[in-house]
Order: sequence, then structure tokens, then C-alpha cells
Amino acid sequence: MIISVASGKGGTGKTLVAVNLALSLDKAQIIDCDVEEPNVHLFLKPDIASILSFKLPVPKILEEKCDYCGECARFCQYHALFVVDNTALVFSELCHSCGGCSIVCPRKAIMEEPREIGRIMKGSAGPIDLVYGELNIGEPSAVSLIAAIKKHINIEDTVILDAPPGAACPFVETIQGSDFCLLVTEPTPFGLHDLEIAVKVVKELSIPMGVVVNFAGIGDKGVFKFCNQHNLPIMMEIPFDRRIAELYSKGIPFVEEMPEWKLRFKQLAGLIEGERDA
Ligand code: SF4
Ligand code: SF4
Repeated sequence: MIISVASGKGGTGKTLVAVNLALSLDKAQIIDCDVEEPNVHLFLKPDIASILSFKLPVPKILEEKCDYCGECARFCQYHALFVVDNTALVFSELCHSCGGCSIVCPRKAIMEEPREIGRIMKGSAGPIDLVYGELNIGEPSAVSLIAAIKKHINIEDTVILDAPPGAACPFVETIQGSDFCLLVTEPTPFGLHDLEIAVKVVKELSIPMGVVVNFAGIGDKGVFKFCNQHNLPIMMEIPFDRRIAELYSKGIPFVEEMPEWKLRFKQLAGLIEGERDA
């Protein structure tokens, strides 16, 4: 079963839920898809077994063949190519590796060369296998790296995908193919606003979903009303608790110090299975 843990916004406790859920299962694989700011490893402190370079092809212009017609620059939607007079430049950090420029070049003057945009780390912490990506700073292709780390999914295990914040392309890339999407929110107008957007996207992808309310006890009832109106099951409430917050700030998953929560997260996994099969 592949469970994606997502939220419309950062800071709602998505990683908190993903990590504590994984640690409450006998065996799990967790894939941290927040490649711009991965942090699951800070809580799991895994032994890293391998580090793989992740490269994408970028164009290289062969000056001896190029006649500076500018066709490639006119084609590139991302302004990664600039041609003027007798100069053709590639701004590889803007390139999205679509390969189109080499197709449209009438003189076959563009070849491709690999450029590292990030790394993929694989490791384990006890019975938890972890895969995460680190996108180099300033690189635009989070989606490509997310797709690459998802290729390491091991469907023999319960797989937990920790999604990036927001509801844009990296979020969609992460949750696609999941059996269930757990949306973590907070009971505030901001939490509700972002939950509404995330729910629309998850519905569009026809993925069964449920909600975890973090910081329960603060804020207002808006999130609860919304879930009720849209038949969204609230599968867990995590209270606004000083001890949980302190453990989080020290990088300690709270199920390790508050073992009664292990059972609750196990029950959550059972509820997810039930909702998925409903
Ligand atoms: S399309 Fe080809 S020939 Fe024309 S400027 Fe670009 S690389 Fe040069
Ligand atoms: S590969 Fe695509 S994105 Fe990159 S420079 Fe060529 S046209 Fe632009």
C-alpha cells in the first residue's frame, strides 16, 4: 500500500505524521519527496547505504555547425537559450530538459550532455527504509527528481510518501499512483484555505483521502465543518501539546517517547486500509 502524506501548506506537521506513522509499523519504506527541503532523515537518522547522482540532459551547442539562426531560442519556453549575431548561449540552470531545441535545430548543431541537478540518498533506520532526494539549490526540476526517487518504491513494504508543501506540480507528482492520501492540516482559517485546494487536486486524481488535524484544540471549527460537508473522514487528531512540540524541536519522533501513540498510529494505518478498500 502506498500512502502519501501531504498538506496544502508547510508547517502543518506533515513530516511529523509521516515519520511517526512509519515508526509505528513493523516494517515500512518512507520516501521523502520534499526534495527542496528534505527533513525526514533528521528524525530517522538513517545509515546511508548509497548516494546516487541525479543528472538531466542539457543542450550543448556545436559552434562549428551552428549558423546562429535562433530557431532553438525561439522554441525554448524557458528562455534557456540566447542567440544573437555570432553567439549562442545556453543557460543550463533554466533548462527543463525537454529536448525540443535539438529536435528543431535545422543544422543538427545541438547535442545533449548530462548535468547533475541533485542526489538520491538511500538508507535505513532499523526496520524503516528511507529514500530521499536533495535538489541542488536554484534548480527548477523538482518534479524530475521526485519521479526519479519514486522509482525506488518497494511495494513489498507499506510505503509512505512525504509530499512537498503546496498543491502544485511537485505535490501532484508525489501523490500520483498512491492508494491513499492523508492530508494533514491545522484547525485555522489558513489551514482550511490550503486544505480546500489540496482536496480539489486529490479529488481530481481520484485518490481516496482522509484528514489528520494537527494542533487540535487551537483555532476554530472551520476545518471540521468542511470535512463534514465533504464527507472527508478525520482519521486522527493530534493535540497542541507542549511535549510533542519539544520533542519535534529536538528531532525526536514523539512515538519513541510517548509509546501510547504507536498504537494510535497503528490504528490509523488500519483505518487507512479500511477507507482505501471502502
Ligand atoms: S537552431 Fe541550431 S543552428 Fe540555429 S541557432 Fe540554434 S543551435 Fe544554432
Ligand atoms: S531542452 Fe528544452 S528547456 Fe532545455 S534549452 Fe532545450 S528547449 Fe529549452
